[in-house]
Amino acid sequence: MVIEEVIERVIQRDPGQKEFHQAVREVLESVEPVIKKHPEYVKAKILDRVVEPERQIIFRVPWVDDNGDVQMNRGMRIEFNSAIGPYKCGLRFHPSVYEGIIKFLGFEQIFKNALTGLPMGGGKGGSDFDPKGKSDNEVMRFCQSFMTELYRHIGPNTDVPAGDIGVGGREIGYLYGQYKKITNRFESVLTGKGINWGGSLVRPEATGYGTVYFCEEMLKTKGESMSGKTVTISGSGNVAQYAAEKAMQMGAKVVTLSDSGGTIHIPDGLTKEGWDFVMDLKNVKRGRINECAEKFPCEYYPGERPWRFECDVALPSATQNEVDADDAKKLLDNGCIAVAEGANMLSTPEAADLFVQNGILFGPGKAANAGGVATSGLEMCQNHVGMAWSFEEVDKHLHNIMVNIHKTSLAASEKYGAPGNYIVGANCAGFVKIADSMLDLGVV
Ligand code: NDP
Repeated sequence: MVIEEVIERVIQRDPGQKEFHQAVREVLESVEPVIKKHPEYVKAKILDRVVEPERQIIFRVPWVDDNGDVQMNRGMRIEFNSAIGPYKCGLRFHPSVYEGIIKFLGFEQIFKNALTGLPMGGGKGGSDFDPKGKSDNEVMRFCQSFMTELYRHIGPNTDVPAGDIGVGGREIGYLYGQYKKITNRFESVLTGKGINWGGSLVRPEATGYGTVYFCEEMLKTKGESMSGKTVTISGSGNVAQYAAEKAMQMGAKVVTLSDSGGTIHIPDGLTKEGWDFVMDLKNVKRGRINECAEKFPCEYYPGERPWRFECDVALPSATQNEVDADDAKKLLDNGCIAVAEGANMLSTPEAADLFVQNGILFGPGKAANAGGVATSGLEMCQNHVGMAWSFEEVDKHLHNIMVNIHKTSLAASEKYGAPGNYIVGANCAGFVKIADSMLDLGVV
């Protein structure tokens, strides 16, 4: 009842922000058993407070294109919750960006960050700017203009942005360069930095690797492992690339990759040479996934998603709501036993329900892809102590963190009456940590 009222108030207060409404509903409905056990959360209006960002900043980002014409985009940063640490979360540059998407991502991030065990609050930012098809100089001018406003609101102990869709190493470099110039400070204000200037080894790999580590932990509960499994992956960006690499390293056969144009199916599985080609195609040439069909044996399916192809394990790693109920049915019909979300809120609520009802292992993004932000936390840690850890050291921390997130989520699912339901487990474990911290900090 209390939960439904809070959801209704969110819908009325923020009409039209459908992704945010979906995220609020997904989290609040699953923490019902927690609310029943903790009347003090209701009394302190934790639910109403947790769905309202602490601060949102919306700003204009004017820039000049290569033809000398003035362009204008909207920038935003939503600083959602800092109860357990400075806001720590990505920036997304994509034409679909608006408040509803940034708020959904920021809200989810609060609980994801709490699960990592590191002191990081939640938020998100971005712009409707599309880096695709822009020259390096245009991207640089846009990033400089974006940071010329954003620098006022961030800081190593306040808010530490990172990358997300459309914001990779190139964009982080231009953003950091401008921050440094304006403030005259070299400090840990962004993560995903280049190795030469404060970045951490394993950060590029972290989200994809972490998703596979999480999936392996889920499989272990059924006496299974990644070894020998047929794996479908969507996307071919950062998360998908390293999920594919780690799955292959663990002895799995990766049979699909995709982008917004379509899917490639590789019946014999991606090889190391094929993976190298995809890395070059996507990160250097910035090409389309269909170009793989000219290079190695695979079939290209324009406009299709990977979920109709047979697999044991699915690692959706592109964008929100890309697995719907029909896709979920196809995965189940084809014998899929585990789904771990490499990106955020990839499965629609109907698809997630189908996975849970059918008893397959389902790792929601909040838990399964937390390795990226966790390694950002490790990057901050190294910056604060002025150290650079080895690849093996960071990877070991990442692996431990993923094992712990799995353990914590599973334990919470049992404690709150839904054993093996990682949605309930991850949401409840993250929520309790945030709610208790908010209680400790008073009404602020
Ligand atoms: P990238 O920009 O590197 O890659 C995104 C991939 O998703 C591309 O292959 C892109 O294809 C595809 N894609 C985007 N929109 C659509 C669409 N509407 N339909 C089909 N495919 C689409 O991003 P990342 O790999 O870094 O991130 C992927 C997701 O993972 C994001 O949702 C992000 O929030 C989430 N995430 C990322 C983390 C990280 O550390 N990178 C951490 C945690 C979550 P195309 O090139 O055609 O656009």
